[in-house]
Amino acid sequence: MNKLDSSLVARALREAGFAVVEQATDADAVIINTCSVRAHAEERVFSHLGHLKHIRKTRPQTVVVVMGCMAQRLGRRLLEHEAVDIVVGPGQIPRIPQMLADAIADRSAGKHIAVSAEIRAAGSESEARRLDEFEAAFDSDENHIKSQAFVRVMRGCNNFCSYCVVPYVRGPEISRPPGAIMEQIRKLAGGGIRQVTLLGQTVNSYEYPAGDRTYYLADLLEMASAIEGVRWIRVITSHPGKFDDSILHAMAGLEKVCPYLHLPAQSGSDEILKAMNRHYTAAEYLDLLGRAREIVGDIAIAGDFIVGFPGETEADFEATAELVRRACYKNIFVFKYSPRPGTHAVKKLADSVPYEVKQRRNGELLDQQNEIAADYNMRFVGRDVEVLVEGLSKKPHLNRAEHEDNPQLIGRTATDYIVVFNGPESLTGTFAKVRIGKTTALTLFGEVAEGPCYNKNSIAS
Ligand code: SF4
Repeated sequence: MNKLDSSLVARALREAGFAVVEQATDADAVIINTCSVRAHAEERVFSHLGHLKHIRKTRPQTVVVVMGCMAQRLGRRLLEHEAVDIVVGPGQIPRIPQMLADAIADRSAGKHIAVSAEIRAAGSESEARRLDEFEAAFDSDENHIKSQAFVRVMRGCNNFCSYCVVPYVRGPEISRPPGAIMEQIRKLAGGGIRQVTLLGQTVNSYEYPAGDRTYYLADLLEMASAIEGVRWIRVITSHPGKFDDSILHAMAGLEKVCPYLHLPAQSGSDEILKAMNRHYTAAEYLDLLGRAREIVGDIAIAGDFIVGFPGETEADFEATAELVRRACYKNIFVFKYSPRPGTHAVKKLADSVPYEVKQRRNGELLDQQNEIAADYNMRFVGRDVEVLVEGLSKKPHLNRAEHEDNPQLIGRTATDYIVVFNGPESLTGTFAKVRIGKTTALTLFGEVAEGPCYNKNSIAS
């Protein structure tokens, strides 16, 4: 969501005559897009602001904008920071170009704020319409990876997981009209986009009533599949509590829909899941994974977990570790519980698990998953996989070019595996076939193979 918002704002500013510079010290304006999901993300913003305060001693004309969820959450408190001129919530980003131009034109005009006053109110529908228009006007892949684009299909969340700040800062679920989504995808495909990722906080909740029928995510997948030029369609992120099998059938039956699900479990303990207000049990979650594998075949699944949630005992953690052992994930993301102001968990539950215990559980869960994945990934050795090439490998230790024309590249399979291989940089944005020679828990390594690319099902089989 934040990557998409950043790219929309960057594109809108480019069209308004701004250009991107590499260093904050050269900038007339600095925009920080923020996340409120964990305290650490917010601490980093304050650290950036400290740095900007220092820069402004020699460059007082620099305008500093803070946008995103932290802007919505803290509002005027953030505006009081010495280094901040403009605060803009995620529902108000279409206003940034004008606010910024005004602030640059008149540095004496003071500070400005645009946050949604009634974030949970139905009035946010007009805000959603403005955001839709902004999105349609400024979508492109220029700030992302060549030939890939995000397309938001819905905004907000109604779930109120007890630890999460998102419903308070992004507002209620509002699904975009399917016609507008398809028009956007058609435009992107016409501009060379080959992979679209349909985005939603809980994308499987997509629901749009129109006349005598209601459109769901499976309908969007079918409609998007019919668009010429698009080759791969992804969806993120799904909530396991309301997952309709029609999505799995669409994945199985539609060639272009990638067999990959990001399906956060958060815990394997039913007690903790209940305290998290997640509305499913560990058994129901595993049952969903079983159905996904039965219907789609060799689907890749990624999971999220929070360790150290209030009251999490060693037995609760062991239940999580057991779920990870049984789930056979492609990869998992593990987060140490971080109390977020305003949430139910903060109001009702003490942050009872010591930091060292959270840290140990975090490490143990990742180690266990890495062992499982390292073992599982060896099945790829000797096989050819199709990847969409993202560009030069960014990690310096991986980036030693064998020679100038054949640098190390990175690509992803339809099942979201990261593949590192050498090849001409011109492959960026195209599909390539790679023969896998070596694997680790998170990465497949190989070399470009001759011959036509496979379709998604032959990769996964
Ligand atoms: S589903 Fe839960 S964790 Fe996800 S955004 Fe909504 S409230 Fe947050």
